[in-house]
Amino acid sequence: MTLTTAFLGLGAMGTPMAAHLTRHAQANGGRSLVWNRTAARAEAHAQAYGSEQATPELLAEADVLFSCLPTSADLDEVLAALPALKRGAVWVDCTSGHPDAAPRQAAALAERGVAFLDAPVSGGTGGAESGQLTVMVGGPEADLERVRPLLDTFAGRVIRVGDTGAGFAVKAINNALLAVTLWATGEGLAVLGRSGVNLGAALDVINASSGRSNSSQNLIPARVLTREFPATFGLGLLAKDAGIALDMVNSTKSSAPMLAQTAGLMRAAANIIGSDVDHTAALQLIEQMNKVVIQ
Ligand code: NDP
Repeated sequence: MTLTTAFLGLGAMGTPMAAHLTRHAQANGGRSLVWNRTAARAEAHAQAYGSEQATPELLAEADVLFSCLPTSADLDEVLAALPALKRGAVWVDCTSGHPDAAPRQAAALAERGVAFLDAPVSGGTGGAESGQLTVMVGGPEADLERVRPLLDTFAGRVIRVGDTGAGFAVKAINNALLAVTLWATGEGLAVLGRSGVNLGAALDVINASSGRSNSSQNLIPARVLTREFPATFGLGLLAKDAGIALDMVNSTKSSAPMLAQTAGLMRAAANIIGSDVDHTAALQLIEQMNKVVIQ
């Protein structure tokens, strides 16, 4: 019996993730369907990788469906519009979604005989292309084991973090931490810039010292100091993730003022600098606040 997979949402992440599933299908005699809201992207994927552009009706043939959309609300829209799904299928949502949406989506899919896993990813577009993403999975272990070989096509690590919704929760907090280090390092560099210190030299020191982070080691040198800000992960998406973390702070009655503050700062940066620019362009707001350029 051949396995049919489907991938919905061929954006910056979905395009290379679906390509790995297509290569897996080609090597194992399976089918790899792709669907995208803007159909031209699915057509381009089929041409570039040999996947099969699917109509919504054809998605009913898929045994495992993957989605990678901006938000859980977008998945709600897609699910509401799908005419039919195969009973016994598994839906793997790789969106950085909302933990509150996951149980509701799992229940709605269960009524259609379909299992649901929240399975957001980290590692960026580079990790998606090299097939080295980290996948954090919420949901029943038995369902994860059914799809693990498929996740392995684009993942370096697959970690089950708990029940339905736990994957989305871990992803939101991880990205809130990214926002904290990005913003705080930007503030520190703005202060040093206003003091007349060479910022490249300052980062060399920080990156050999205890102030270092992924933001200081990788993101800021390659994207901010160069003034390139290559748009691989939108600032609007990071503001969304920090906002989900803030929702979690409130719903769990936690005291987390730094996460709350950072969510507000990321939203301000997305509103003022733009949603579609790279997330590292948040530091352009710090530059405006300090009349200094981080370069
Ligand atoms: P993109 O903006 O590049 O792509 C979004 C995709 O979702 C497009 O295919 C778009 O279709 C589709 N889409 C948007 N809204 C809808 C809708 N209402 N119905 C159907 N399809 C829709 O996003 P990314 O690939 O960057 O991000 C996707 C998810 O992955 C997000 O949750 C993000 O937070 C997360 N993520 C992103 C990373 C990155 O480095 N970029 C890293 C890790 C996680 P269309 O072509 O029609 O616009």
